[in-house]
Amino acid sequence: MKIIILGSGTSTGVPILGCDCPVCNSMEPEDKRSRPGIMIIKDNFNLLVDASQDLREQLLKNKIERIDGILITHAHADHIFGLDDTRMITKKYKKDMEIYTSVDVEKQIRRVYDYVFNDSQEGGGKPKFIFRDVEKVKNIGPFELKLFEYYHGKLKLKGYILDKLVIVMDGSYIDMNNYKLIKDNGEYIIINGLRTRPHPTHFSIPETLFFVKSLNYKKGFVIHLSDSLTHKDLLKIFPDNIIPTYDNLQVTI
Ligand SMILES: [Zn+2]
Ligand SMILES: [Zn+2]
Repeated sequence: MKIIILGSGTSTGVPILGCDCPVCNSMEPEDKRSRPGIMIIKDNFNLLVDASQDLREQLLKNKIERIDGILITHAHADHIFGLDDTRMITKKYKKDMEIYTSVDVEKQIRRVYDYVFNDSQEGGGKPKFIFRDVEKVKNIGPFELKLFEYYHGKLKLKGYILDKLVIVMDGSYIDMNNYKLIKDNGEYIIINGLRTRPHPTHFSIPETLFFVKSLNYKKGFVIHLSDSLTHKDLLKIFPDNIIPTYDNLQVTI
């Protein structure tokens, strides 16, 4: 499968509005971190993981015009506020957009996107969503799907394993049972690592590195980055098989 990191940044994006730190002022393209998003491609099936506010620009930059399914991790703004942008894709391909998520996250999306589900005027068109409960599906297109659970602060989220790729988008705690599930079923991981200092709802970079090293995987990719270190500085502290991601990074695993 091919992985395209559409957005490597945390909810604020980097540069952060009003921040004058060296990372936010950096001119290096790897230090411009848009909100989180991943495109995973296998057998010509384009699976999007999370739809941030930056989705439209991310798709344009990567020349991706078709999405075959969307996997949503949770309903925070930086993971669902781009869903409206899918309406032009639905229109072009005349197929409703399949959104794979938990029943709980579906409820929250229905509330946020109230206009999509009520009988208000069409205007410039509305996105068309079909929800698929991740508890009830074993496959998304060509991908095999397995679930686990983790915490984002106090929120319990569903984690996803696509074939051998584990995705922890906004984690801060994983219990031993779920750790074992991940260790036994994965070979690669995309996981959040926010900043050098600890944070109440996200793993810090030292926590993430420690966690990924303990898995003994082939490769790890760290996403959902804030502005504490430049890409060059991240490279200095990361071991060879753990990659600090940046926008538009493409890898085949
Ligand atoms: Zn987030
Ligand atoms: Zn900054």
